[in-house]
Amino acid sequence: MKSGMLAAEATFKALVEGSSMDLYWENIKKSWIWEELYRSRNYRPAFEYGFIPGMALSAVERYIFKGKLPFTLKHGKPDHEATDMANLHSPIQYPKPDGQVSFDVPSSLYRSNTNHEHNQPPHLRLRDPTIPEIVNLPQYAGPESRYCPARVYEYVSDENGDTKLHINAQNCLHCKACDIKDPKQNIEWTVPEGGGGPGYTVM
Ligand code: SF4
Repeated sequence: MKSGMLAAEATFKALVEGSSMDLYWENIKKSWIWEELYRSRNYRPAFEYGFIPGMALSAVERYIFKGKLPFTLKHGKPDHEATDMANLHSPIQYPKPDGQVSFDVPSSLYRSNTNHEHNQPPHLRLRDPTIPEIVNLPQYAGPESRYCPARVYEYVSDENGDTKLHINAQNCLHCKACDIKDPKQNIEWTVPEGGGGPGYTVM
């Protein structure tokens, strides 16, 4: 939210005063979010070395150095390359939502108040429309239909048994998981028109 506010301020100045959008980046670096991100930069990459070393290193960073370790660990690879082929894993049996602390997708979606104008170009596009059926489904068991929290991506079979990916872009919650995680980086997430998206009212 803070980075969005800084982006809005820099955009306003660029439009009214003609200043450069470099101001956005400068303001990010001066803000508390930069400090916070810097302090926590080593937590996730520490787990590249395994669970126990990751826990130990994160604890040392957190409680002793307080985010000031004199080095920055790197991630081994981007998120989309960390997706394994489906045949390397067994399906996970998740418990059914209990309606108390966990909820089904339609109820969660209803609570998010997500809305997009229907007569706009889709904000989720496939760079190559054949990738879902020839790569994602056979090799990765259709990961976009699993990680998307809003069930935007659905593999649907027609009467001939052909399976196609359907994209229900109007349900998108703007988490951007698909933009980051798609194994072939085939999903292009663009900003929707008219400020559409989730509208949580109790946050
Ligand atoms: S951004 Fe998130 S909610 Fe929207 S389609 Fe991608 S994974 Fe689903």
